[in-house]
Amino acid sequence: MSDPDPIYVTKPHMPPLEEFLPYLESIWESGWLTNGGPFHQELETALAERLGVEHLSLFANGTIALVTALQTLRITGEVITTPYSFVATAHSLLWNGITPVFVDVEPGSCNLDPRKIEEAITPRTSAILPVHCYGTPCDVEAIQAIADTYGLKVIYDAAHAFGVKHKGESLLRQGDLSMLSFHATKVFTTFEGGALVCPDAKTKQRVDFLKNFGHSGEVTVVAPGINGKMTEIQAAFGLLQLRHLDEAIVRRAAIDATYRELLGGVPGLTFLSQDEGTVGNFAYFPVFVGEGYPLSRDALHARLRERGIIGRRYFYPLIAEFPMYRGLPSADLGNLPVAKAISRSVLCLPIYPDLDLATVDRIAALVAAP
Ligand SMILES: *Cc1c(COP(=O)(O)O)cnc(C)c1O
Repeated sequence: MSDPDPIYVTKPHMPPLEEFLPYLESIWESGWLTNGGPFHQELETALAERLGVEHLSLFANGTIALVTALQTLRITGEVITTPYSFVATAHSLLWNGITPVFVDVEPGSCNLDPRKIEEAITPRTSAILPVHCYGTPCDVEAIQAIADTYGLKVIYDAAHAFGVKHKGESLLRQGDLSMLSFHATKVFTTFEGGALVCPDAKTKQRVDFLKNFGHSGEVTVVAPGINGKMTEIQAAFGLLQLRHLDEAIVRRAAIDATYRELLGGVPGLTFLSQDEGTVGNFAYFPVFVGEGYPLSRDALHARLRERGIIGRRYFYPLIAEFPMYRGLPSADLGNLPVAKAISRSVLCLPIYPDLDLATVDRIAALVAAP
């Protein structure tokens, strides 16, 4: 018998191919491949409705969306951000010639600790760039209060927070702009893709100019924009994904509940708690390996791998540890003890709609008795 296929931390749900063919036929017939075609327009409307926001602009990917968000608000100087994220968060700052200033995270949420933001503010600070890590909402009220006091903009990296609600409202309405990623590994995907959620029509218009080379008309260019446009194929796939999304999230929720039940009593293992005021999306299932567990985090990671289960150490190493960041004063790990400890203990377990619960049982049994 050959080994079964490896089980990765995530896998996109692919709807039946027949359902995609009519979209393709329509694109072939019209020959409208990109530049705000009919599917692009339809997806912007459908997503705004689904997410409970008014204005949203689609992008080729989340990173270009984040780079463009910083351009849209003319952010310069220094920006306060988290070291505990995917590296694109800080890279978007370097691509704008902005200096990242890393501030430590909170142990309970893995998100930027608002109590540590103020001491990092300098005359050069122009914005805060927090991440809703694993879809857990940041302390948005505390962050906004600091931004209001010091006159800072807030741009959320909401790559993990598709559909997340905070106190009955879309989390994506927080801050001045929120970025979404629709990469293949995310809860909602368009192969590659992303979006900026904008507070008003004027801001969306500026974002739309910037993602299309700065064109505001046939012969007018108002800014050194970039090419961040989403294609019709991507938008069509997004429309198809949307049809299956509710079911996909129900399945994710069942996997989350199964892990919590089967791993709840395991000594030395902890998870993030579920906040009652939050409607989550079950994008990730991180476990934190601590004292009392028989293996180190890395030994557990290796043990699962031997059995074909590929967990991921999101986020290890910290962004602050990479060569282009580690020389910054704020990147000193002595300044980031919580983020450092979390990055050394985290392991994300497989969670995706097509993962059957019998396999989840098997993974949990292995983790419970490695
Ligand atoms: C996926 C991700 C990004 C980048 O998005 P892309 O669409 O892959 O460019 C940025 N930040 C975080 C936190 C992410 O998880």
